[in-house]
Amino acid sequence: MPRRAARAKAPTVGIVSLGCPKALVDSERILTTLRSEGYAISGSYDGADVVIVNTCGFLDSARAESLEAIGEAIGENGRVIVTGCLGKDAALIRDAHPEVLAVTGPHQYEAVVAAVHAAVPPLHDPYVDLVPPQGIRLTPRHYAYLKISEGCDNRCTFCIIPALRGDLKSRPAAAVLREAEKLVAAGVRELLVISQDTSAYGLDIAYAESAWRGAPVAARFLDIARALGTLGAWVRLHYVYPYPHVDQVIPLMAAGSVLPYLDIPFQHASPRILKAMRRPAHQERTLARLARWRAECPDLAIRSTFIVGFPGETEADFALLLDWLAEAALDRVGCFKYEAVEGAKANELADPVPEAVKEERWQRFMQAQAAISARTLAAKIGRTIPVIVDAVDGAKATARSQADAPEIDGLVHLTRAKGLSPGDILDVVVQKADAYDLHAVPVEAHRAAR
Ligand code: SF4
Repeated sequence: MPRRAARAKAPTVGIVSLGCPKALVDSERILTTLRSEGYAISGSYDGADVVIVNTCGFLDSARAESLEAIGEAIGENGRVIVTGCLGKDAALIRDAHPEVLAVTGPHQYEAVVAAVHAAVPPLHDPYVDLVPPQGIRLTPRHYAYLKISEGCDNRCTFCIIPALRGDLKSRPAAAVLREAEKLVAAGVRELLVISQDTSAYGLDIAYAESAWRGAPVAARFLDIARALGTLGAWVRLHYVYPYPHVDQVIPLMAAGSVLPYLDIPFQHASPRILKAMRRPAHQERTLARLARWRAECPDLAIRSTFIVGFPGETEADFALLLDWLAEAALDRVGCFKYEAVEGAKANELADPVPEAVKEERWQRFMQAQAAISARTLAAKIGRTIPVIVDAVDGAKATARSQADAPEIDGLVHLTRAKGLSPGDILDVVVQKADAYDLHAVPVEAHRAAR
């Protein structure tokens, strides 16, 4: 008997598993998770608090059998959660059986387990429940990373992440949103959305809908950004590629529900090098797209990373990159010298760039960007901008503007900041700028000094 069940009657789950061995393994995984949380497994309908029907949708006959099994479980027990291959066709299931509590697709273990939690909560366990609901985090209390997917379907030639982590695997939207809710309830004021390719979110699960706050939310870049924007925290989007559908998120930024910040790893600007890198969206007309985004959302900050010295990069390619950088006037930029990572396809390309040339190009790149950054930041002097406080030291504080992600971007150094605490969000007046950081005072202190 599990420890929980020894103290009180364990919540009990039944399962009807249809279909192929892959579906059977899915059922085993679901049951293993639930068992480890203290649920008991019932072999009959009437002993179960809720029944999971793991369906098959491969052939018409299998679909009919699945619908029939759902009907039987509803008739015998009444509380039914549907998962598996037929779960991809939620409308069909709900049309036939509107009483089902939840519908999730294949391999959506997190979503099934969450639906079981919603239907029959696990018993309180003082050992496991010592872990806070938002999990154990290594970031400060006021910001948190929110991973929406794992793996990547792209095959950039310098990268071995797909070999290490596999193809894109998106989390159900409801699972992401529930985690975000818990984080906000625990005091997080800024959510940093991460993945390998945020704009591709949901592609692998056909943008499946899952229920959050009583309504379906699609696992889609725009929908998840919109839903996260309702939680009252800053929402910052990382690792976005400039696909056309990213245009749709700009109005959310202009309206203030998502931070006007996009982290887009461009990596280069020369079409020849981008093609050799096999970068996603390398054929997009990015400068025109950036101009349109900025026209729509003038405060939009764009952060990016670049690689110099990629195999075959000529002086002409590099000059093109510097010209592009001058025109793009990105707000925040990181630059790396190409490294031949073991196992990366790019290592087989001809004409490796000598280390001394990489170094020289990196220096020129950084100088060019420092001048762009200094100009961009100087234009903010005198403006009132919102910041989030990271650390306080007496009357001084270190904060970040909406254009600055933690660890990778710049800072806003505050003076006359007595009484502030980490996580506070307040308006400040920018007084000074250097190449990467701003210096400011809180609006109140600024007014008092006038
Ligand atoms: S660089 Fe990014 S987009 Fe390209 S393969 Fe690696 S993880 Fe995917």
